[in-house]
Amino acid sequence: MSNAAILVAAGRGLRAGGGVPKQWRPLAGRRVADWTLARFLDHPRIDRVVLVLAPEDRDAWAEFADRPGLILSEGGETRSASVRNGLIALDNTDCTKVLIHDIARPCVSDTLISSVLDALDDAPGAAPALPVTDALWTGNEGAVTGVQDRNGVFAAQTPQGFAYAAIRDAHAAAHAGEAADDVEVARAAGLRVVIVPGEPANLKITEPGDFSRAAKELQGEMDVRTGNGFDVHRFGPGDRVMLCGVAVPHERGLQGHSDADVGMHALTDAIYGALAEGDIGRHFPPSDPQWKGAESHIFLRHAGKLAAARGYALGNADVTLICERPKVGPHAEAMQAALEGILGVGPGRISVKATTSERLGFTGREEGIAALATVTLVPA
Ligand code: MG
Repeated sequence: MSNAAILVAAGRGLRAGGGVPKQWRPLAGRRVADWTLARFLDHPRIDRVVLVLAPEDRDAWAEFADRPGLILSEGGETRSASVRNGLIALDNTDCTKVLIHDIARPCVSDTLISSVLDALDDAPGAAPALPVTDALWTGNEGAVTGVQDRNGVFAAQTPQGFAYAAIRDAHAAAHAGEAADDVEVARAAGLRVVIVPGEPANLKITEPGDFSRAAKELQGEMDVRTGNGFDVHRFGPGDRVMLCGVAVPHERGLQGHSDADVGMHALTDAIYGALAEGDIGRHFPPSDPQWKGAESHIFLRHAGKLAAARGYALGNADVTLICERPKVGPHAEAMQAALEGILGVGPGRISVKATTSERLGFTGREEGIAALATVTLVPA
């Protein structure tokens, strides 16, 4: 006797935006599918998980191939066909209870999973739902045409749980038709499905705005990242220095392989650091001649895009330039605006300030400029 979960991840749902199926989009530092998968793989009462994948998601097949407790199954033409394949994948196991869950509901709680399993002790089917509390209208062409009685009306959620053999047979019998969900398949086969109290947080990601709602729900487990960066460049011949994207007139310039924007380099390294992705030198090797004299916004933009690809947005950044001259104060606002523009963030998130080292050390002797930066990355 064992419990299994089937996660249906073969859909191509693009309505949530981003150009890739929603289960592969980043959410609070991981992908939607990773959150949902962890919910079930880590649950003490779930013995195995079947992940139903589309044949074209080749990267996912390779990535999940050897995960303990995970069985991969190929999706079908429709959601029902995918569920059927998932059920067949459990055929040679000792599975007695199976939960069928939408991959796009990453906020499902351990408690809810347990409640559905418990309810299956007394019924062949159990599924969470929320009573509808809003008034229900019918409408046509933008106008209200009637009011619907909401008594006894529920909004259905997943995981929907069943006695394994019963739902496998029900799905096999329903082969010709296409049901809205597995509860409908079960009821068509005469199975009793009891309602377990659902959770408002157990939302299904459908529209673009659902990502921020889901991220807030996952905040308790939110992976906030901090990084720091430090850089130094030496003075040499020139008539200006590039500092945080602004050319500041000076009787000397800064030397370096790129445009020697010391502040932008520190900030870029801080973002790489927060992501545990090394530093600028790793992504743009100084041995590669194509980066000679490169404008540093290329590096910063790359770090920002890497953070976004990992599901992070910039919480805030603080850059400190250390030099006796040139005076930074008059340019600080323009520097902040330049960095905000490159990273695509609104005002008030990036600070640029300066200090001297009281004429001590190499910055005090005006041999070069040092910069340090701290950033916080938060789930996007
Ligand atoms: Mg540098």
